[in-house]
Amino acid sequence: MSALTLGILNGDDIGHEIVPAAVDITRAAADRTDLDIDWRPMPIGRTALDTHGSTMPEGTLDALATFDGFILGPIGHRDYPKVEGAINPHPILRKHFDLFANVRPTRSYPDIGCVYDDIDLVIVRENNEGFQPDRNVVAGSGEFRPTEDVTISVRVITREGSRKVATAALQLAQARQKRLTVVHKNTVFKLGCGMFVEECYKAGEDFPDVEIDEVIVDTFAMHLVRNPQAFDVVVTTNMFGDILTDEAAGLVGGLGMAPGLCLGRGNIAMAQATHGSAPDIAGKGLANPYAMIESTRMLIEWLGQRHDNSKALETAALMQRGIVAALADPATRTADIRGTGDLQAMVNGIINNLGD
Ligand code: ATP
Ligand code: MG
Repeated sequence: MSALTLGILNGDDIGHEIVPAAVDITRAAADRTDLDIDWRPMPIGRTALDTHGSTMPEGTLDALATFDGFILGPIGHRDYPKVEGAINPHPILRKHFDLFANVRPTRSYPDIGCVYDDIDLVIVRENNEGFQPDRNVVAGSGEFRPTEDVTISVRVITREGSRKVATAALQLAQARQKRLTVVHKNTVFKLGCGMFVEECYKAGEDFPDVEIDEVIVDTFAMHLVRNPQAFDVVVTTNMFGDILTDEAAGLVGGLGMAPGLCLGRGNIAMAQATHGSAPDIAGKGLANPYAMIESTRMLIEWLGQRHDNSKALETAALMQRGIVAALADPATRTADIRGTGDLQAMVNGIINNLGD
């Protein structure tokens, strides 16, 4: 297989700037390697509400199922009008394609305001379980209120879900330093986190060359600030992963530096930056496109590995070269990472440095 079909889902607010930026860069790199990509823009988010009567049109889900992967821009669902069809597409996409593993790397680059200059770790966050108020778990919701003064929030952990995300993390660990850290709180959540940890060790039996250790989440939060170099691949449950990946982003320049790739067992993957739609800076050309671009690069690399597609691997390598070079020059960096440029300057900087 040589041609790839990829969906473009802009999302909301800065999504309309950072997704086209990621596509432009990928196109430029793919032109150089002769990688054939069939790009398919699909409706989602606020614009889709106007054109299709839903922020998550059925037709988008059906089309995506036939693609190799897609790029999803941030979704500003909290600002959606309270009308029919205005729903949060995130949980639907993750469930529909069983994207249970959210791979979120944290990497230092020089001079952009990183707390340490040698961080290189990946947190794999479970994506479809945990505390999910939008899940149909109990009485129509993952949260319920038996009396006016008591609220119960349900956290779901399953053996299968834990085993799946652990396996994804172990595969990644095997390709990296063969070390996996399981982050949990089984001292308190004896059943839930207990099951998660158990399944991580069981999954590890299939990866005898990967060393597994475990750290309690609060201790990990402290170590992550003091000694992030101690970690390579980390796996954890949904909400711990949500919080810890923002903490990790804070160590390397902030939310604009936090990419992500959502994976499942299926053939499809979703590139999705960790940050939100940042309505405060939307439309101004100021957003840092790194997270979206790097998420897209990860998707191309993943497809290259999965399909043994050397052109895709070369494309990802060119993108990496362009990104590293652009980040090294303040003129081709955005203001949030100590740059003097804007989004377009960064895109141009990356494209000019792809090499060939
Ligand atoms: P969510 O709940 O969707 O995660 P959030 O409330 O965490 O959203 P974000 O939109 O992620 O909020 O970002 C918070 C702030 O961080 C933004 O308002 C913006 O100022 C800044 N920010 C986020 N992403 C970027 C980016 N790519 N470039 C520059 N600044 C950003
Ligand atoms: Mg957030």
